[in-house]
Formats: sequence, C-alpha cells, structure tokens
Amino acid sequence: MIPFNKPYLHGKELVYIAQAVTTGKISGDGVFTKKCHDFFEQRYGFKKVLMTTSCTDALEMAAILLDIQIGDEVIAPSYTFVSTVNAFALRGAKIVFADSLPDHPNIDPVNIARLITSKTKAIVVVHYAGVACDMDTIMAIANQNNIPVVEDAAQAIDSYYKGKPLGSIGTFGTFSFHETKNIISGEGGLLAINDEKYIHRAEIIREKGTNRSSFFRGEVAKYGWVDIGSSFLPSDIIAAYLFAQLENIDKIQTRRNAIWQRYYDKLSIVLANTGIELPIVADYSTNNAHMFYLVCENLEQRTALIQHLKDNCVHAVFHYLSLHSSEFYQDKHAGDALPKSDHFTDTLVRLPLFYELTDEQVDHICLQIKQFVESK
Ligand SMILES: *Cc1c(COP(=O)(O)O)cnc(C)c1O
Repeated sequence: MIPFNKPYLHGKELVYIAQAVTTGKISGDGVFTKKCHDFFEQRYGFKKVLMTTSCTDALEMAAILLDIQIGDEVIAPSYTFVSTVNAFALRGAKIVFADSLPDHPNIDPVNIARLITSKTKAIVVVHYAGVACDMDTIMAIANQNNIPVVEDAAQAIDSYYKGKPLGSIGTFGTFSFHETKNIISGEGGLLAINDEKYIHRAEIIREKGTNRSSFFRGEVAKYGWVDIGSSFLPSDIIAAYLFAQLENIDKIQTRRNAIWQRYYDKLSIVLANTGIELPIVADYSTNNAHMFYLVCENLEQRTALIQHLKDNCVHAVFHYLSLHSSEFYQDKHAGDALPKSDHFTDTLVRLPLFYELTDEQVDHICLQIKQFVESK
C-alpha cells in the first residue's frame, strides 16, 4: 500500500535531539527553540515569532491576544480544520461561517464583506493547500472596518502572496509542524506576530500568564502572575527535531514541488474532458506543494475513486466536512447555505504526497486514475 503520508528524517534530527538532551535543558525556550526562532525571523522577515506546541495553540493565543469575548463574532471559512474556529469558540465567540470560492476551497472575500457586523472582532482566513487567499481584497475589507485578520497558515509554510510570505500579512499568522505538514516535528506550531503591540503580551500568555520571559532577560527583578495564559511553549526536544528539518527546507520543498508537478503534468492529460478537476493555484500565489488534490463531479464518483485506488494499493483520502453543518455547530449556524463548502466536502480527494514518494509511485497512482476514468 502506498500510504497517504509518511514522516521522514533528514539525518540530523536524532543528533540534535541527543544534543538537546545532553545540554541538560529540555524544557521550553532552549538553544534549539532560539535557533528555530532566528530561522523564521530571518528567512521570512516576521517581526516576532514564538514556537508553540501546535497550530491549534498558536490560534488559541491569537484569540486571547485579540481579547475575544463572549458574544463577539468571528468570520471564518466553513471548509477548514476544527482548530481554526475552536480557538475562538473557546473564548465564547460566535463563529460566522463564510463560503469558499467556486473554484478553490479558500474563503470568498465577497462573502466576508457581507457577513461583517458591528460585533465582528476577527476574520480568520485559511490558505488551503498552501495557496494564498486573495489577501489584498481581504485586507482592504478588514482595514476599512478596523478588524484584525488571522492567517491560519498551518499548510502554508514557505508560500507567498505577491512576494510576501504567508503568515506575515495579517495581524497574526499561525503555522503547524504536525507530521502531515511539509516541515514536521511530530506536533508543533508557530505564532507569527506582525503587529508589535502584541509581542509583550504574547510572551506572557505563552508562559502561563507570567512575565518569566522578561525576568530571564533581566528586565524585571522577579516574575509572577500578571495575566491569563497557559503553557503554549514546546519542549526543546521538539525544536531540535524541527531545526534539522528547517536546515533542509529547500531540499524538502524542491522534492515536494517535483512530485506535485509530476502529478499535474500526467493528470492534466489523463483527466482532460473527464469532469474531474485539477487543483488551481491563483496567479497571486506561489505553490508550496503541500497537497495534491482532485475535485470529483459528485460524492458517488469520489467514493468510487477512493475505493478503486484502495483496491490498487493507494491510500487516497477526502478532507474537511463543512463545519457549519457539523454536529456541534449546525444548530448554532444561523447563516445561509454554503454550497461551495459543501461541494468540496463531497468531492475533494487528496493523493499521497510526501518527501519519500518515488516517481514510480506517482506514475502508478496516475495510471490507476487513468484506469478509473477509462472504466466509466
Ligand atoms: C493542520 C491544521 C491545523 C492544526 O494544526 P495542529 O498543529 O495539528 O494544531 C489547523 N488549521 C489547518 C488549516 C490545518 O491544516
């Protein structure tokens, strides 16, 4: 069976973990966390970054930093991972779900504009498959209404919108290093803070609501409880693993892009005039090759395709289920039907894409898809 995903080592991960362990400091904010912070700030020019234990945690920090209160409204896409909105639901926010674009799962800016009220306190966008949302339009709408934007860039490391790194455009960007992403550390995340005024409080919230970070810099004589907070910082063992990956980011991205392009070139021939669609990368976005997906014509076809691939040793998977019609939220969703989100819920299928996937395996998968469409 060709798995959907497979975590991989690039050589130095275990060496760095051993190094972290032998230095005697394996709690948070050790040597490797600092190395990772420097890497992100230098490569992407983020004003300030803080490693977290997950993208979920980074989103929760963003919700606390934006001071989201009970009854506040937060606009987000329905076609996304639960963490995108759970972070805000935890603060008591009402999630106002927006629809996707017709030809891409990313949030439709026209939809956002319609959903803004005097209670809207944040707009959360997701760069699906690492492809940028239409950020100029989104930022213009947000700025007109004085509403902060959070970029859920969990899938979007090393991807750009008109030359700007994703995660650097909104007030906050949040990243994931979960083992299913491009750059991994098992679990892991990052908060990018693009507005200076949030940096000080972010350090406090990440350290259980204490001013421990200021204390270690010698800025205060003792540290104590100064705000709400939690334990959002990862062990330096996680950072050690991550740093080994970051050192190889160009190699990883080059290979992932080659796999993505091979799929695209072969399948654009196989799927021509079949009704099954290839992924679209908007001209304002780069492609970080996070994901290779297809959009089927309907649920029956997708189910049959996944089954056909499974019968031929390929593990392909569908993705999100519209959150506005989830068990938890369907009674709370007061808004419109969201047909585009439901369409991707029913029809999108993701193909295996991981560093060690070989060209032969890609060719096998494409051949199986060819046989599937020819058998119809
Ligand atoms: C993976 C993912 C998350 C969650 O990341 P974790 O690091 O597992 O918390 C959030 N949002 C999106 C869009 C994701 O793809």
